[in-house]
Amino acid sequence: MSNPEPATSLLDSQATEVGSVFVSNYPPYSFWSETAVPEVHRVLGEPPRPNTPLGLYLHIPFCRKRCKFCYFRVYTDKNASQVEEYIGAVVREARLYAEQAALSQRPVNFVYFGGGTPSFISVKHLKQLVEQVQEVFPWDQVEEVAFECEPGTLTRSKLEAIKEIGVTRLSLGVEHFDDEILRENGRAHVSKEIYRVLPWITDLGFDQLNIDLIAGLVGETWDSWRGAIDKTLEVSPDSVTIYQLELPYNTVYSKSKLAGDEGPSVADWQTKRQWQAYAMERLGEEGYEVSSAYTMVKKKQAGSRPFVYRDALWQGADLLPLGVSSFGHLSGVHFQNLSGWTPYLNAVGEGELPISRAFVTTADERLTREMILQLKRGYLLAAPFQEKFGVDIRERFAEPFGALRESGLLKEEQDHLRLSPEGLLRVDQLLPAFYDVKYQGARYT
Ligand code: SF4
Repeated sequence: MSNPEPATSLLDSQATEVGSVFVSNYPPYSFWSETAVPEVHRVLGEPPRPNTPLGLYLHIPFCRKRCKFCYFRVYTDKNASQVEEYIGAVVREARLYAEQAALSQRPVNFVYFGGGTPSFISVKHLKQLVEQVQEVFPWDQVEEVAFECEPGTLTRSKLEAIKEIGVTRLSLGVEHFDDEILRENGRAHVSKEIYRVLPWITDLGFDQLNIDLIAGLVGETWDSWRGAIDKTLEVSPDSVTIYQLELPYNTVYSKSKLAGDEGPSVADWQTKRQWQAYAMERLGEEGYEVSSAYTMVKKKQAGSRPFVYRDALWQGADLLPLGVSSFGHLSGVHFQNLSGWTPYLNAVGEGELPISRAFVTTADERLTREMILQLKRGYLLAAPFQEKFGVDIRERFAEPFGALRESGLLKEEQDHLRLSPEGLLRVDQLLPAFYDVKYQGARYT
């Protein structure tokens, strides 16, 4: 990764402008609509597609403080009784789904606690939530339970409860180890809280510990970034996930930039890619291997587990989303829950599914979605797509693959398409070239 800047016409503009680059789904959310919501009810009433894994996504939208780069809808002002009310609503929502033909008696393959900050809620609320959701969706067959944590919200007893409910993959939102950078970016935790919880995590023996970092937080320099990677290596987690900071609409930073204030000074894309390349190289030297554009994992040891949630979603699994503003997918239909606190609670309270918008995908859109998401691993095999969709992706996407090849960002060997390290570092900026023309240039909200 010594030269992360190939000469290519595909290069994006270098400054970090306001707008989303990260591709999490397809087609873009701005094409989802309320008029498609009845289609979710239709597929709920039908048996599931054969051999489709089912995941459960539990959304905990609370945080101690709002990070200045965060664009999620999070609540920093809810008290214990409001949290209890919310947990009750999520349980009711689960019960509403439990009798539907697409879900009834269907085993859950994986569970993901996301947010927000799942570790924000108390032990009592966590246990209440899990016990009651499990009454309708038992987890006895799950391959993975993943749980996102913010270091400052963890205590030893909370970690014990997290372990007790079956969490296998603990993801610690470290983002950085430098207190000045954490403070500047509005993070709630400080580095001493990271070190306070690490021995407990080790003692409790979670199957997998992932550490999240962000390359390019405001205030980042080469020295601070090298320091962050050194400290990550000292911790030696099973997995390290690194996102490059972007400025989606609706963050504190983006709003100040759009208001014409001086705004935050965010490194340009070239610098962020160099930082990411450096991290991947250092981790690679210390026994990690590339699992995706963002994630490095310790080289496989006997009994090591993959990241089931990510891989299942990238391969078209169904995902039942519980909680305000959560995103899900069922039998070819994308959908999202209501994103306001009161509308969500009211809908569930009245016994209605709190779905606000949906999108019915075509087979070609599902093919495109799975292909672009899997390209984030850095390679694609043509055969699985041929088998699942009856399509040769090399022919269907001949034009964008050809452009990537000509730019030196992709190599093709028999049925194997592999991004160069440079291509992998900028994969999100490459993916829109695979979109249907009507979705190109769409805003990702
Ligand atoms: S902890 Fe995560 S979800 Fe909460 S405000 Fe920060 S970035 Fe957003």
